[in-house]
Amino acid sequence: MDKIAELFRAQKIKVTPQRLCLYSHLLDSKTHLSADELNAHIKSELPAISLGTVYANLDLLKRKGLVEEIKIDFGKSYYEARNQPHHHFLCRKCQRIYDVDVPVCPSLKDHEVEGHKIEDFQGYFYGQCRQCYKRKTQVE
Ligand SMILES: [Zn+2]
Ligand SMILES: [Zn+2]
Repeated sequence: MDKIAELFRAQKIKVTPQRLCLYSHLLDSKTHLSADELNAHIKSELPAISLGTVYANLDLLKRKGLVEEIKIDFGKSYYEARNQPHHHFLCRKCQRIYDVDVPVCPSLKDHEVEGHKIEDFQGYFYGQCRQCYKRKTQVE
């Protein structure tokens, strides 16, 4: 928690129990979480928190570059603590989201494309994940 508080201060983010709880949960979680899921988790530690507060804090952490919002599933956003840039794969069968490693294209290394400055990028793939794909090819 001290490390996170330090990180917040470095980014000029006011340290609040909700933010500490939210961000530490995102760091610990190895999956991508929706605001609802985060809210449910945090509620067990901080019962007074509301979904609106969760959204407001996610938005702030996103603007500060600590949290990544993943909009792979059109109607719904998922969140993760920002780490190495990577793309995402959504399985249409089981709805699971996977991190996938794809080589970074040259324009991303320069942070520029046709004179536009790139600040962020997202790559989404859709299909059947390896588990579902394997299952389908088995004899029924
Ligand atoms: Zn699947
Ligand atoms: Zn991810």
